[in-house]
Amino acid sequence: MARLTMKFGGTSVGSPEAIAQVAEIVKDHLAGGHQLAVVVSAMSGVTDALLESASAAAEGEKKTYAAINASIAEKHHGVIDALIASPPGRDAIRAEVDELLRGHLELCEAVSILGEATPRISDALVSYGERLSSRVIAAVMAAEGLLVKQVDSNDFIVTDNVFQNADPLWDETEARIANGLLPILSNGVTPIITGFIGATPDGTLTTLGRGGSDFSAAIIAAYLNSDELIIWTDVDGVMTADPRLDARARVLPYVSYQEIGELAFYGAKVLHPKTVQPIIARDIPLRVRNTFNPAHAGTVVGSRAQASETVIKAVTGIRDVSMLTVSGPGMLGVPGIAGRTFLATANAGASILMISQASSEQSFCFTVVDPLAQDVKAAVESELRREIQHNDINSVEVLSEIVIITVVGAGMRGTPGVAGRVFSLLGEHRINVLAIAQGSSECSISFIVAENDLERAVGELHTLALETVENDRVNGLASPY
Ligand code: ADP
Ligand code: ASP
Ligand code: MG
Repeated sequence: MARLTMKFGGTSVGSPEAIAQVAEIVKDHLAGGHQLAVVVSAMSGVTDALLESASAAAEGEKKTYAAINASIAEKHHGVIDALIASPPGRDAIRAEVDELLRGHLELCEAVSILGEATPRISDALVSYGERLSSRVIAAVMAAEGLLVKQVDSNDFIVTDNVFQNADPLWDETEARIANGLLPILSNGVTPIITGFIGATPDGTLTTLGRGGSDFSAAIIAAYLNSDELIIWTDVDGVMTADPRLDARARVLPYVSYQEIGELAFYGAKVLHPKTVQPIIARDIPLRVRNTFNPAHAGTVVGSRAQASETVIKAVTGIRDVSMLTVSGPGMLGVPGIAGRTFLATANAGASILMISQASSEQSFCFTVVDPLAQDVKAAVESELRREIQHNDINSVEVLSEIVIITVVGAGMRGTPGVAGRVFSLLGEHRINVLAIAQGSSECSISFIVAENDLERAVGELHTLALETVENDRVNGLASPY
């Protein structure tokens, strides 16, 4: 018997057919004698719709948020009608769904009176997606005779109060999972848990950031001491590139925690960037699998750094970023400019995605998401006001319509010439590189190119990664469970 934590993403629970498939997968694993904790996302499109309802409410557009409420109702009713045949179970879950949706509507009304959806209220509003899906999925499974219990993760995942991007308070979360969630599994019941949602110590709802259900599942896997974390999604595994960007993308049978960390941080949407954080220390293997193709072994993510012959395993890109450059004749040898710049950036609420400094020390550049670029420019210029007035430093330059491209592969460490190969390939194709940085884990290189070079650059570098998959052929990693 193994203890497994599994998470089903938005598409995996996005329709009656998909939910029926999820129930099959859960049933199969229970039949194998395993203990399961199941984490679910909102049905696909629902989180976006709820966010839209928040903006509509803030604008006082009652018709819009009421229509969104009705369409979310219809989506969940559709699942209930298709999958729950008998009246007692069907009526009870329908009533529960309608009750929650009344709550959503009331909250929208409150927002429209306030005229503003604060991050705190926005989190309360988007939480309805997972609260609805988990209840409907649990009801479907119960109707199929499975012993399940719907569970709200805000009872277990205790977070700070950074709304829309909260981080867990680890010790408190660990204790609550051990005392509250584990006994459910020990009693032979499968909890169906909301992904994405947490709560501050005083019980105010928070969310873990877009795509955060992966992170929820990893937190739960860690503190339940799971034997494996399985992320069920809508592709066969972690691929050599975003399949929507390049149709040649192939599934990687194995990647390390570090490699997936870099890939996710630099734009591979398949996993939330924080997913591996809770499971690394416990060395819990993670497997990414396809709900709609469960015969495929998927991708295993683990601690072993396995280099591949051609070094580059995958390529990824982030759009909608801007590059800011701090430069000036007076920078040379003046300590603290970079430190002050990065602190001002953090105070403006922006995270830095990539930093690059020329060895001349006369300039450095860094990258933030587009919507914050002007705020960061203003914050940094205000911090460096005196130096700018004395012409030691120029005003901060902002370059938009650029993208960050990252190539990832454990074999880069200690393999000379990888960067050379990457940049000569780009040079051959006349793709201009604006800045370069190597990841501190030495398993990635990131660089900036113009937005309209994205497809070409990914395509060319992807060819190198594809050679890797051809050569590697390390298969036979079928799930032991
Ligand atoms: P879920 O709803 O299951 O969490 P997501 O939509 O968040 O699924 O993530 C899965 C999607 O990530 C895939 O459909 C794919 O289009 C995209 N994706 C981007 N980069 C990669 C990659 N390198 N490997 C696999 N999928 C990727
Ligand atoms: N439902 C949330 C989102 O769409 C969380 C998740 O699906 O992981 O971002
Ligand atoms: Mg996701």
